[in-house]
Amino acid sequence: MVKIFKNIAKLYTVSANGKPCKKGQEMQDAGLIENAFLIISEEKVVKTGSMNTYSETDYPQAEYHDCEGRIVVPGFVDSHTHLVFPRTREEEFVYKIKGMSYEEIARRGGGILNSARALTHISEEELLTESLERCRQLVEKGTTTLEIKSGYGLSLEGELKLLRVARELKAHTPQTIKTTFLGAHAIPTEYKENRNAYIDLVCEEMIPAVASENLADYIDVFCETGFFTESETERILLKGAEYGLIPKIHANQLDFSGGVKLGVRMNALSVDHLERITDDDIQALQSGETVPTLLPSCSFFLREPYGPARKLIEAGLPLCLATDFNPGSSPSGDMQFVISLGCIYMRLLPEEALVACTLNGANALGAGNECGSLEAGKRADFLITKPIENLSRLAYSFTENLIAETWINGRKAVFNPAFFQSVEKKGIS
Ligand SMILES: [Zn+2]
Repeated sequence: MVKIFKNIAKLYTVSANGKPCKKGQEMQDAGLIENAFLIISEEKVVKTGSMNTYSETDYPQAEYHDCEGRIVVPGFVDSHTHLVFPRTREEEFVYKIKGMSYEEIARRGGGILNSARALTHISEEELLTESLERCRQLVEKGTTTLEIKSGYGLSLEGELKLLRVARELKAHTPQTIKTTFLGAHAIPTEYKENRNAYIDLVCEEMIPAVASENLADYIDVFCETGFFTESETERILLKGAEYGLIPKIHANQLDFSGGVKLGVRMNALSVDHLERITDDDIQALQSGETVPTLLPSCSFFLREPYGPARKLIEAGLPLCLATDFNPGSSPSGDMQFVISLGCIYMRLLPEEALVACTLNGANALGAGNECGSLEAGKRADFLITKPIENLSRLAYSFTENLIAETWINGRKAVFNPAFFQSVEKKGIS
């Protein structure tokens, strides 16, 4: 069935003319067509253009949608989340208000280890139901594709549990979900005196098990002072690569970790966080295809410096923004808020922030040719806004949900009670 969306006041295609991302200055151009139409067929985009060139007679059987002067943008692609987690951690939030540092909380057995403990007390069914509710909220906020990492298991069973739930989510939400194995998120307490034994466990048992159940697309390591060193990160990523897992790295959140150059050297899809970055790191990024991904909600929540977005754009790089949705440092998966923070604190133009949260997000998942922009042949994932006049409103009216309709794979995403009942009936396969 062909569907035609007419009278779109402003259609931001984010077209890169077939390329998988937009780099540097190109990010200022979000592919705006005024007074536009969008044609989709089944799950794919067929055509976009100006209403001046539109002819009704070309598609006599089509279903029509009048967008009545509203704005249409590609669905948001959130390339970095930890959405499957056992419980929120608001008690640590209060420690932070009182001034305790991230490292101090981690030393007291809080942080990631706190979530890992909680994971042992929750069933896969409960974890699925809670995660699904998060997905539902994010559909309403406009996220059509997202990546989900493990990393709160820190044991073979725990990591498999998280990834199985992430995979099961795919059957219950219309969103496209990609999964990442992050067994090397922290060293569990029982391995504190013998970290190599934990790294052996990650490499020799977890990676083969994850691969044999086909549970992950990518592998990630928390390459940070106090977590995993550069050489440990390399060892783990190399082992992952043997099993077909594509590398990503958490780098330079707390310190200069060496993770950026390592990522480029290993052809990682992305290096994420980069609250701190050296000129050498930027040069390294210029020499490869690794995507620099910044996570502004994490900086906001932890009162940490924001990543140098303008510097990365001026260096001609394909900047990507994501939420880092997780219970410790970014308890929000809201991409509209990420756009606001990108504009307010990183001085991105609204067009640049939109590109960073759509096409460049897709590129950080190696999916720049599948989604992230409204170009012929790509997935028909797009958002119709409430009646607003300018794209800038998305950034300006922070925390107001300005998305009226979320379309995924050519279908309007509707959540109803049957959606949740299906979880209860089906359970975990
Ligand atoms: Zn993260």
